[in-house]
Amino acid sequence: MNEQQLREEGRSMNEQQLRAKIDRFAAEYVRQLFAGKIDAPGPSDCWGCYLVADTGEHPLGSDCVLGHIEEKYYVPSLLLRALKAEGASQAAKHAAAYHLRLAGLQATRPVSNGAVRKDIILALRKFCLKECGLKA
Ligand SMILES: [Zn+2]
Repeated sequence: MNEQQLREEGRSMNEQQLRAKIDRFAAEYVRQLFAGKIDAPGPSDCWGCYLVADTGEHPLGSDCVLGHIEEKYYVPSLLLRALKAEGASQAAKHAAAYHLRLAGLQATRPVSNGAVRKDIILALRKFCLKECGLKA
């Protein structure tokens, strides 16, 4: 095996590991969300994720996602960013708003079946992959 092949193998190993970490992060995020353990966006948030202008810009930058995955930091606003960016279903957005206890959006208990959970996991996974520069 030459140096080029070794480098590529190393890269694909790292990519596989990162993809596995993202899968675990998305699944654990949703488990904690449905268990009511994720706070509403606010003081416990990452400011890079939380501060979004109407134009969609992040004045403090938004290259923090890889760090959140590595640290297993389930940032409240990261979920909202993912659902918006990945065009998740209305049911997924409703469930997220309910479990994040967003003001005004928690009056009715959402459907919390497997399909909704899966939809949220997929949106988080896709968003994190893209933010980490991987193909979703
Ligand atoms: Zn962040």
